[in-house]
Amino acid sequence: MLSACSIRVRGVVQGVGFRPFVYRLAQAHALAGWVLNGEEGVEIHLEGPAEGLTAFVRDLRAQPPAAASIAAVQVTDTALLGCKEFAIRESQQAGHPTVRISPDLPVCEDCLKELFDAGDRRHGYPYINCTNCGPRYTVILGLPYDRPNTTMKQWPLDEFCDREYHDPANRRFHAQPTACPACGPGYHLEAGREEPSESGSNVRRTAQLLNEGRIVAIKGLGGYHLACNARDQSAVEALRQRKYRKEKPFAIMAKDAAVARELVELSSGAGALLLSPARPIVLAPARAELPGVAPQTRELGVMLPYTPLQHLLFAEGAPSALVMTSANRSSEPIAYEDADAKERLAGIADAFLIGERPIARRVDDSVVRAGAFGPMILRRSRGYAPGAVAAFPTERPILALGADLKNSVTLVVDGQAFVSQHIGDLDHYECFRAFEETIRDLVSMYEVRWDDLLAAHDTHPQYRSAIHATELKAAQMGTVQHHRAHIASVLAERGEWERRCLGISFDGTGYGDDGSIWGGEIFAGSIKDGFERVAHLRTAVLAGGDAAATFPVQAAAGFLAQIDVPDLSVPPFNFPDRYRIASEMVCKGLRAFNTSSVGRLFDVAAALLGFTREVTFEGQAAMWLEQIACESTNTDSYPFPFADGELDFRPLLRAVIRDRLKERDTAEIARAFQRGVARGLREAAVTLCHTLDLDTVVLSGGVFQNELLLEDLKTLLAAEPLQIWINHAVPPNDGGISLGQAALAAFGRFDRVS
Ligand SMILES: [Zn+2]
Ligand SMILES: [Zn+2]
Repeated sequence: MLSACSIRVRGVVQGVGFRPFVYRLAQAHALAGWVLNGEEGVEIHLEGPAEGLTAFVRDLRAQPPAAASIAAVQVTDTALLGCKEFAIRESQQAGHPTVRISPDLPVCEDCLKELFDAGDRRHGYPYINCTNCGPRYTVILGLPYDRPNTTMKQWPLDEFCDREYHDPANRRFHAQPTACPACGPGYHLEAGREEPSESGSNVRRTAQLLNEGRIVAIKGLGGYHLACNARDQSAVEALRQRKYRKEKPFAIMAKDAAVARELVELSSGAGALLLSPARPIVLAPARAELPGVAPQTRELGVMLPYTPLQHLLFAEGAPSALVMTSANRSSEPIAYEDADAKERLAGIADAFLIGERPIARRVDDSVVRAGAFGPMILRRSRGYAPGAVAAFPTERPILALGADLKNSVTLVVDGQAFVSQHIGDLDHYECFRAFEETIRDLVSMYEVRWDDLLAAHDTHPQYRSAIHATELKAAQMGTVQHHRAHIASVLAERGEWERRCLGISFDGTGYGDDGSIWGGEIFAGSIKDGFERVAHLRTAVLAGGDAAATFPVQAAAGFLAQIDVPDLSVPPFNFPDRYRIASEMVCKGLRAFNTSSVGRLFDVAAALLGFTREVTFEGQAAMWLEQIACESTNTDSYPFPFADGELDFRPLLRAVIRDRLKERDTAEIARAFQRGVARGLREAAVTLCHTLDLDTVVLSGGVFQNELLLEDLKTLLAAEPLQIWINHAVPPNDGGISLGQAALAAFGRFDRVS
């Protein structure tokens, strides 16, 4: 007795070898029918004995291809059509596409074997890939995901590749970016006056150059890297100088996991992240001395090779630890187009290893850490973007524009929330252009109609993202307060729309309800009902507003105006004149704003401990303080009392000044400050949860990138009957804001609607 069923599979099921997998499964169970890529996922029609159909569905769920991620399998009985065999049909187009675009994948084991097999057609070919691996988001120009819609469209398949492409039993069946040395793109090396090297030897020559201490720009998946030998101090210093990157740490690419273990201490969690399909940069405690690579931090960012070219480079003898940093000058976005890269990097790179396959869009390496509460994403880009991070209970398309620093945007289509790659700081013109492009890109890829769209943006009237929002043709628009968005981002990741929680947002800067600069806010509520502010950091005056974020001593002026302080212009404090000027501004109320920012409180403590210069990247002073604190083993903490809805920073800062005057070791002071902040937060959380009858505490905002703070909180809260939730799928910094905006927008929880 024959029966028939149709199966619809949703999730990341296109471009990951799903149809050949279905084909082979149908063959194995001797079933007839067909499979095709529909716009809502993979559609299967099956005919055969009922037991065969059941077994097929069981295996489909149990053993999908490695790169696939099944969100739902829908099986419905249907009429027999009398199919005689199983076939793979061409893609269907109707309505608008809701399939998910797969993030880029690292080269797989099978392809690596072929890459290093002298007898293989693709031996040494830097663009080898198959349905289980290779580029996706960085080559896709449109949907559905087929070769004419990728940056490989200009390279027609030769007979060999074509045969594999059409053979359902082959690993490259419908592998859209497939190619071989005979028909596909290649790499070439440009090294000053040197004759361009013949193909094959250019990778060897690049490895030589790196060994000689040169800086080489190397085209990767989502942009160019600047590479040099991480163990060659003069090369590293030359790179810093030419890149105008004074102190920000460089990431390292280690030849393999064994070399990575020589460089950093890898916990089991960190090791798993290092080897995960996203192949991110993993921050972990440094073991090796690499002068100049990551000055003044105990952590090192390490990743493993993920493209065939990177594997070839190491195999050809490149140094086993390479600095691999985004190719740009300081603060510019990563270069990804060849002409632009050659122009912008002319004074930085000694040579260029240029791949011919165009990059569809700029995608940086992602940065993660295995933290006290589980994995934390600090920069969400390659390997993660544009994957869906949450399923929303809403049909309406929503576009959320994020914040101005560490910008990302979120598009919700048919209830799937797609978060873009990290875009960067919108004050930078190139980043702003990338922001506009990404919005256009996502909206057109998913064929969302502007007159259908609900848009959300930050409340800050001067944010570029907010101003841009008003130029979009969205049907409806509203603003979402920055720190409420942080809290909502954690709940949205978990699909907790109605869960009431205490939301603690410790952050650098955000526009508050009253127009002041918030950043130490505690809320109670849910995404569905909105969040009410129930407590905050005691307010201080900030001279110069957001500009004070670059000068810790400038931020210090307003906070220290509230306590008695000694002369700070002399040792041990040595505050520069900027402090005196800022103090006068505070007194006279000139360009002075109110703030409750915990990020600034950390800056003040850092200034008191010796960080009196300008910061050269966001969050630097707080990171500096955390690193110093890690050197101490003392167990005391400074008082940071919570009363009447206010965390009072005055006793905390008084203690720092007192112990500094007593010449207590700065590491011990930093440690007692850090633990004091954690204890104050614990006290506020426990008190408020008790009064408001809550059992869940959500932590989000840039300050929670501070791992030592999370470790302290974990210890301090261990005995409390409270659930502690942090971000796992999007960053706790402003990179996660767009997801939170979308979540609150989905429930109409706007501050203001236009
Ligand atoms: Zn492969
Ligand atoms: Zn070929």
